[in-house]
Amino acid sequence: MTILKLLRKNLLNLVPYQSARKLGGQGTIWLNANENPLSPHFHLKSESFNRYPEPQPQKVLEYYADYSEVKPENILITRGGDEGIELIIRAFCEPNQDAVLFCPPTYGMYAVSAETHGVKLITINQTANFQLDLKRIHYALENSSAIKVLFICNPNNPTGTLLNHSDILTLLEMTRHRAIVVIDEAYIEFSSSKSYVLELQNNPHLAIIRTLSKAFGLAGLRCGFVLANPELIRILNKVIAPYPIPIPVADIAEQALLPQGIDKMRERVEDILENRSWLICELKKISMIIEIFDTAANYVLVKFKDGQKVFNSLWEQGIILRDQNKVSGLANCIRITVGTAEENRRVIEAIRNIE
Ligand SMILES: *Cc1c(COP(=O)(O)O)cnc(C)c1O
Repeated sequence: MTILKLLRKNLLNLVPYQSARKLGGQGTIWLNANENPLSPHFHLKSESFNRYPEPQPQKVLEYYADYSEVKPENILITRGGDEGIELIIRAFCEPNQDAVLFCPPTYGMYAVSAETHGVKLITINQTANFQLDLKRIHYALENSSAIKVLFICNPNNPTGTLLNHSDILTLLEMTRHRAIVVIDEAYIEFSSSKSYVLELQNNPHLAIIRTLSKAFGLAGLRCGFVLANPELIRILNKVIAPYPIPIPVADIAEQALLPQGIDKMRERVEDILENRSWLICELKKISMIIEIFDTAANYVLVKFKDGQKVFNSLWEQGIILRDQNKVSGLANCIRITVGTAEENRRVIEAIRNIE
């Protein structure tokens, strides 16, 4: 007897999210998960853990509200941005009936979260220049009442692209009274474009995903946020676990969101943007590169003549990048996270040595 007989059918063939960590590799230079190359330092203040934590730690709510220019009642603190994605699907999608819509190539967790909950996927590929195909999205909405949630990633992972502002506004109109729109702003701090928090005012169906994993350099903390109107936040509070934010997580998140922590984050972002310019400038000199895509994030998508060869060769040298070759539309593409100046120099050197 195998317990597989007992398993939910939709999970039998589910491929789990291929996180950068799970892919392994004997790395010395990790540039495959869009993490910050350097860690900020904190000291734990809490010393006793016998009590349950606050379900939504008040100070973290207040500090993140100040930082993101909303009110505490507009915020849900989650276990990473990924939990926010999952909660929205669980709250709004009826299993075996409803669907989510997203626009590949984009972040893999929208599909994984929907599939684990038995929710259908409707995909509308991006246009050739990585923008929203609004006509086809409109058509899909007209023809399927099952679509409850649309995921938009801005800047988009893995392309780095910023979506046209007017397209997002059009999408919000198209979906009004019709579906929830999630704008995933995991990389917003690296971008010169504004957050969509201002749009919360007029859009009860908008939710914004944020995280401390990227610009704040705290991927190991597992702390993210959903920003939305109080009605939507109250709904998500119904489905979240009772004590999702451990005391040490709240403790460190609080310190990271003090004015001094935010200043430090902004300095790190400036450093990364400088290093990104250097990296792109050097990549431009390499002849086996076909295209370097514009990026508004801490990574750059690069199309090589032979992406597999470059990826494998660097992998063998302990430089771990993110292969995008199997992603539809991204043949021969590799996503490179911007590392420290030294790490970037080693990447360039290793690619040059293949030529
Ligand atoms: C990294 C990332 C997230 C969230 O990551 P967490 O570590 O769970 O906060 C969400 N969306 C995108 C596009 C990401 O790249």
